[in-house]
Amino acid sequence: MLYSNFQGLKLSRLGFGCMRFAMDPATGEIDQKLVNSMFDYAIEHGVNYFDTAYPYLGGKSEGAMAEALKKYPRDSYYIADKFPGHSLPGPIDNIALFHLSLERCNTDYFDFYLLHNITEWSVKIYESPDYHIIPDILKMKEEGKIHHLGFSFHGGPQLLEEFLTRYEGVFEFVQIQCNYLDWTLQDAKKKYDIITKHGLGVWVMEPLRGGKLAALPEEESASLKALDSSMSDAAWSFRFLQALPNIKVILSGMNAMDQVIDNINSFAEERQISSAETDTLLTIAEHMKKGVPCTACRYCCEGCPMELDIPYLLSCYNDYKYASSMSSSMRLDALDPEKLPSACIGCGQCSHACPQGIDVPAALAELTELYAKGPNWAKQSQVRHEAIRKDLHMD
Ligand code: SF4
Ligand code: SF4
Repeated sequence: MLYSNFQGLKLSRLGFGCMRFAMDPATGEIDQKLVNSMFDYAIEHGVNYFDTAYPYLGGKSEGAMAEALKKYPRDSYYIADKFPGHSLPGPIDNIALFHLSLERCNTDYFDFYLLHNITEWSVKIYESPDYHIIPDILKMKEEGKIHHLGFSFHGGPQLLEEFLTRYEGVFEFVQIQCNYLDWTLQDAKKKYDIITKHGLGVWVMEPLRGGKLAALPEEESASLKALDSSMSDAAWSFRFLQALPNIKVILSGMNAMDQVIDNINSFAEERQISSAETDTLLTIAEHMKKGVPCTACRYCCEGCPMELDIPYLLSCYNDYKYASSMSSSMRLDALDPEKLPSACIGCGQCSHACPQGIDVPAALAELTELYAKGPNWAKQSQVRHEAIRKDLHMD
């Protein structure tokens, strides 16, 4: 197993993500037997980092993870959990929710704790004095119940820079969606550079883009096999990330034993990736993209009579075009109605200014439709709100 050094801790570079456990079709519950076997195999092969979150699997992930870990000494592994500020029904007793997570995880401290899913929308809740989240979480850290504090992030680079600047010295690591496709599609490169510049560790989620990079289209897969026939599609994505020195942990949400075995093989030993191989991966990524080639130069913004943040909207558009995404829905939810893509009056000013020749009004019209049809964050939130109310006996 490859390990990284984070503040003197030896962390397995492969982290076990606990958001995709398989369900037993007979009972509709998590297949605990399978989880136990996957954990046993992972631990035997050196994995020592396990990542869950309060809302994963309808609140059942924390307990399933704890059950699979209970036979191992508490100081032989690291647990990461997350505070669901993005899913709250309103201001709640944050400390009570934190303690509920501790109880479900059968522990009295978290090695790593994250503010879950910071975006341009949810940051307003996380920073709201009414919600009082950050002061309460810092109190938990002062009391020793959190050893290392970070946040998971789905917003744009500008917000990341601003947030880290506002909270310099508070957070120790940031978890971002990163893989060779999102390196440019979701600005993961810029985010990696910002986090590194602030001196924090980078944690990676979605290294395989929900499995899409583990099963590439035939032509792309063949071009990788031609480079090294011994490596799976998934292994290429992991090797790309392993070459980035500030990535401390790469989380993979594993739900089958063959995935665990394949992933662990990819982390068994160093395998340097050459610059030609990196170029091949980035070329494959370009072919997989379906949106517009916006470089965020902002030449178009000055002349927009509606003062729209065009590159921001186009980055949401590109993400929607690849795979309808909840985080893009949240990023659009963060905007005032007069800044949504539907506010575009189609004057075409931006397209004339655009060195990439992008038909911006057409993209914004399509984004308006995708936003209306796509995953609805507000609707999904209702379910989470009800779960939190029930868990905290708020009704
Ligand atoms: S077409 Fe839309 S986005 Fe472009 S300048 Fe006009 S109003 Fe702004
Ligand atoms: S001018 Fe074109 S490439 Fe530049 S930000 Fe605007 S849409 Fe993007």
